[in-house]
Parts: sequence; structure tokens; C-alpha cells
Amino acid sequence: MARIVILGGSFGGLTAAFELKRLLGEKADITLLSDMDKFVFIPSLPWLAMGWRKAADITVPLKPILERKGIHFIHGEAKGIDADSAKVVTSLGEIPYDYLVIATGPSLAFEEVPGFGPDKGHTECIFTLEQSEKANKAWNKFLEEPGAIITGSVQGVSCFGPPYEYAFEMDYELRRMEIRHKAPIVFITSEPYIGHFGIGGLRNSKRIMEDEFAKRDIKVITNAVVEEFIPGEARLKDGSKIPFKFGMFAPAMKGVPAVAHLGNPRGFIPVDGKCRHTKHKNIFAAGVAVAIAPPEQTPIPTGVPKTGFMTVKMAKTAAYSIASEISGSPMPASYEMDVLCLMDMGNTAALMKAKPLLPPRQESELKTGVLYKWSKALFERYFLWKIKHGLCNLP
Ligand SMILES: Cc1cc2nc3c(=O)[nH]c(=O)nc-3n(C[C@H](O)[C@H](O)[C@H](O)COP(=O)(O)OP(=O)(O)OC[C@H]3O[C@@H](n4cnc5c(N)ncnc54)[C@H](O)[C@@H]3O)c2cc1C
Repeated sequence: MARIVILGGSFGGLTAAFELKRLLGEKADITLLSDMDKFVFIPSLPWLAMGWRKAADITVPLKPILERKGIHFIHGEAKGIDADSAKVVTSLGEIPYDYLVIATGPSLAFEEVPGFGPDKGHTECIFTLEQSEKANKAWNKFLEEPGAIITGSVQGVSCFGPPYEYAFEMDYELRRMEIRHKAPIVFITSEPYIGHFGIGGLRNSKRIMEDEFAKRDIKVITNAVVEEFIPGEARLKDGSKIPFKFGMFAPAMKGVPAVAHLGNPRGFIPVDGKCRHTKHKNIFAAGVAVAIAPPEQTPIPTGVPKTGFMTVKMAKTAAYSIASEISGSPMPASYEMDVLCLMDMGNTAALMKAKPLLPPRQESELKTGVLYKWSKALFERYFLWKIKHGLCNLP
């Protein structure tokens, strides 16, 4: 029986685990290791930070949903991988594997900017459950006595969407409370233009986003390098000093330490079209852990976002590739990088579509409408239901 070990219990790891079990049944012994004991629907973290969701609304415990399908769950941390002897070194001992799927997501690189981040710095973040809960507390306190807000993405960021959502949501909430005039918002980003998103823009996304920010009276600074955050002030490389009372910024990402030695200089895993490691043939990777080169060199370094939609597709490709080797079923087609995403905008939302992900493209689109806001809320419910029931084969 083939031993398959999966690292990470989120979009990539769970999709790979459920799909492998469905495809291989008793032909494989599948173990999923995660340092978190629950799945978090990360796309709803901006809503949690706004107080529009509670943790219980967007989390699912991993053990029961995996064990019900006959998948072993280990709540522990991978410390390293010995690829030559095919073993994962964990906080609880070694786990040998015949096939390994890496879906460990990112490590958030706050240390790259002095004074940055919610733990040791002066800014909030909304990229993990704990951070969003902390940001929500800070936001509620801020509302008692509002002031200047800064938000956006520092140099090297790849996940640009959340600060856009958060800027629009804060604007919406402040207007709803009729205190927007007490809280000027500045959006600071390393993107060369607003609506670039790390993927060279989406058709007329620059114009649309410029209009949306202008409509909401949100000031935008592009091509920004943040040199440091000090209490109440962001210091940019061009000498500007931007004061703030409340700040939330997206950090750059790296691969997690346990897998970084198998990756590029930033620790992301190089894979081929079947999501297989380019050097280690029994190692596969999916999601944020994977290396994707940017479409163009931007004046200030930016990376390519790896969305949940892309992660699920990669995890399915990895699962089908492994299943094909074990059971002799046909190899899947190579993974095509494309994206479909719903971005919340407070009172409305945007549908973003790019096929392929990077230009030149056959199709690309960004359109706004309240229908997409409802679709985003419905999708959240649907995805959580799918995960709870291990039905990752559904679209
Ligand atoms: C705020 C926010 C909003 C987003 N909104 C959207 C959206 O609207 N639409 C969209 O498509 N995408 C969105 N994304 C992107 C989406 O969340 C990611 O694409 C997705 O989470 C990637 O899944 P993953 O499995 O690769 O990694 P992750 O979700 O980061 O999960 C990694 C898993 O690995 C575990 N892990 C890490 N290290 C170890 C270790 N050493 N040992 C054991 N376990 C480990 C972690 O605990 C976690 O369970 C958003 C991202 C953020 C941050």
C-alpha cells in the first residue's frame, strides 16, 4: 500500500487528501499533518477583522472530517524533509512516505521591514485567524476615537487582494457609521499602478480601480517602498512620512522553513505542469508553497498571487498525477494557471477573471456589481460545506 503524506490542512492539503482518498481508496495509506487543528476559510478573514464574521462561522475542525473518510490526521509541525530517505521530520517523530504533497502555504516575512507587523511592530494584519481577531479588537478601539488610516502592501508582496478588500470595507463601515470624515484613508502599495495585482493588471482594471478609489476618496500612493514603521508613522523610501492611527499592511511571503531547502531562494517549491517537484520525483506541491515567476519586472519588486482557486486546481493536478502512478489511471493534463476571484468592495464586489493567469491572455475581465457580493457570501457557505463533507471533487 502506497504511503502518501500531505503537509498542510488548508485549501491545498485538504483538496489533495480528499481527492487522493476518492481516487485510490484502499490502495493508499494517507496521512495529513497540519500544525493547525482546524481549516480556516481564509478569504473571509477581512470580514472577521471588520466584525462581520466570528471564528466559528469560518472554521472546521480537521480530525473528524478527515478520519470520517479514512485519512489519518496528525496535529503536529513538520520540522524538515529528508528527501533522500523520503521522510518528514516532525515535532512528533519521523514519518516515512512514498509520495509527499507539500501544501504548507507561506511564512509571512514581517522581519523584512523594521517595525512591521502585529507581533513585534506597529501595524495590524489580516492574513491569519489570530491576526484578524487582533485587528478586529484594534479596529473597535479605533472606532471609539477615529483618526488617519493607512493600508496596502509593502515591497515584495504577492497577495494584493486583501488590502484592497479591507480598504473598501473600512470606507463602507466608516460611512455607514457616519464618521468617514474623521478617518482619512491612504492606500500605499508597491504595485506600479492601482489594479496591477501582481499579474500585470486585468484589461482595464487600472482605470476601474482608479475610479473606485477616487469615488471613495481614498488617496493612493503606488511604487512605494516602506523603509520602516514607527509608532504612528510609515516612512517611505522617497522621504515621505505618512502618519496613521490605524494601519493594516500585507507582508511579503516566503516558503515555510521546513520545506524551504527544497525550494528557490525564497523557499517556494519549483514544480512542473503536473505539480511535481522539478528534482524530486515523488514530491508534489500545491498552492502558495509553489514558485511562480512574475510576468514582468516591476520598478518595486512584486510577486504573483496564488489564490484559493489556483491552489485547489494545483492540488487536484497533484492528486491525479500521484493516483495515476499508483493505479495506472491516465495522467491528468498539465495544470493551466488561470484565475477566477471575487473581491469584496464593501457595498459591492468585483469579479476578476484571467485566463491564462499572466499576460498575454485569451480572456481577462474585472467587473463590479452587487451580485458578486452575494456570490462571494454564497461561495463561502458552499466551500465550507464541501470541506466538511470531503467533497472536493465538486466544482
Ligand atoms: C486575507 C486573505 C484573503 C484571501 N482571499 C481570497 C479570495 O477571496 N479568493 C481566493 O481565491 N483566494 C484568496 N486568498 C488566497 C487563499 O487564501 C490562498 O490561496 C490559500 O489559502 C492557499 O492555500 P494553501 O493550502 O496553499 O496554504 P494555506 O491556506 O496558507 O495553508 C497552509 C497550511 O499549512 C499548515 N502548515 C504550515 N506550515 C506547516 C508545518 N511546518 N507543518 C505542518 N503544517 C504546516 C498551516 O497551518 C495551514 O494549515 C486570500 C488570502 C488571504 C491571506
